[in-house]
Amino acid sequence: MAVHFVIIGGGPAGNSAATHAASLGAEVTLVERDIVGGAAHLWDCIPSKAMIATGGAISFARRSELFGLQDSDLPELEPTAVKTRLADIEGRLHNGIVELLRSQGVRMVRGVARLKGPHEVVVDTAEGMEELRADAILVSTGSRPRIPHWAEPDGERILTTRQAYPPPEVPEHLVVIGSGVTGVEFVHMFSSFGSKVTLIVSRQQVLPTKDAEVAAALEDDFLRRGVVLFKGARAVAIDKDKDGSPVTVLCDDGRAAKGSHALLAIGAVPNSEGLGLEEAGVEVAESGHIPINHHCQSNIAHIYAAGDVSGKLPLSSVASMQGRKIAEHIMGLHTRDHRHLDYDKAASAIFTEPEIADVGLAEADAFALGRKIRVTKVPFAANAKAMINSDPRGFVKIVSDPATGVVLGGSIVGRHAAELISVIALAVTAGLKVSDIVDSLLVHPTLSESLADAAE
Ligand SMILES: Cc1cc2nc3c(=O)[nH]c(=O)nc-3n(C[C@H](O)[C@H](O)[C@H](O)COP(=O)(O)OP(=O)(O)OC[C@H]3O[C@@H](n4cnc5c(N)ncnc54)[C@H](O)[C@@H]3O)c2cc1C
Repeated sequence: MAVHFVIIGGGPAGNSAATHAASLGAEVTLVERDIVGGAAHLWDCIPSKAMIATGGAISFARRSELFGLQDSDLPELEPTAVKTRLADIEGRLHNGIVELLRSQGVRMVRGVARLKGPHEVVVDTAEGMEELRADAILVSTGSRPRIPHWAEPDGERILTTRQAYPPPEVPEHLVVIGSGVTGVEFVHMFSSFGSKVTLIVSRQQVLPTKDAEVAAALEDDFLRRGVVLFKGARAVAIDKDKDGSPVTVLCDDGRAAKGSHALLAIGAVPNSEGLGLEEAGVEVAESGHIPINHHCQSNIAHIYAAGDVSGKLPLSSVASMQGRKIAEHIMGLHTRDHRHLDYDKAASAIFTEPEIADVGLAEADAFALGRKIRVTKVPFAANAKAMINSDPRGFVKIVSDPATGVVLGGSIVGRHAAELISVIALAVTAGLKVSDIVDSLLVHPTLSESLADAAE
């Protein structure tokens, strides 16, 4: 009899596990309370990048003179058209996923699921309760924006990231609280739309976990655009309609940032409550995450966790890969070629302008570990395609092992960094050497030529 695999949550982790397990012969039931595609499609990856692309079109128009164009009118954001565009993208992606799941024979159930025991899942559907018995279970319920005790988002003036798009109006002055990846992407997005932006940065650099040189490049761009940085300040309260300002964000050092709107971008909390995890004997960490081993198993071998709820890297790409590996594990497909998921080799990107992307070992981490490395860096300023693009900002940095030449990591700041990092990601995963990149015959003129130059 086929293995019955029940998945709770249809985001990237759940979808990927469902299609792969079904294609390998499992009987799969995917339970989703909302929309298959998950938060990634509804609120996170897709709408944010679609909005950033709209901002990119505005920035491009602003720079049109650099391409020899004259008298071009500056475009203005039209919120209704943007809303239609977001809905269209989301709808098309959703239909694609549903079609794929159907074609693989995955049974989709709309409802709220919870565990009733180690092998039982109950689903509250519009038609009533349904009980499922499972040989294997995946909890992939994602996460939601963290809301601090001192803020009450109202969806009008004080916003979470899920309430920020499409904006009913372009904020005149947005105060963004939080300078991690999400915070800086929203700064970039709204400053491209013409909003004045103040960013509350709790440390001394934006993107505190990133390479200092990379963060400095982004700060330069923000300052050039007139973004005000409150460094070393933690927000502690938000007042509405005080001293003539719609919102005032108060910081622990006594400073106050006044604006028309405030946006909370201070992380996420896992969706692990009300799932019956404790009753089923599944260990849950104090943070609410479900601790997992390298096969994504919880402390109960046939109950897996993946995606944001698993507390590993909160990236859609990681969630999907976890889902795929879980499907292989459940179906016993662990051959000699099997590679465990190595979170240290996950490429990630920040869709700002300039774009930022990195993968593998960072220069600062290597120094902290006392590891000998070779670092080579070339700026895009000398690259022909960067000149053609009228955008010479940024650089490529490659970290390699000085003894073997094996590529250990890299970072890219500049146009299309999120695409270009794939080459370094492949090198890091496959254990390629810098000479492999140098010897590749690349297209001219392209930004990728700077990768080969940096590998020299
Ligand atoms: C603003 C923003 C932008 C981002 N941009 C990117 C990006 O560009 N690239 C990237 O890789 N990552 C990005 N991320 C991170 C990415 O969105 C998450 O890592 C990813 O969505 C996690 O996938 P998941 O499968 O764990 O969960 P989700 O996508 O959150 O899906 C979980 C699903 O579970 C469902 N669910 C929850 N509880 C139940 C229940 N009891 N019963 C049934 N269903 C349930 C939910 O309705 C939801 O659909 C971004 C995050 C944010 C906040």
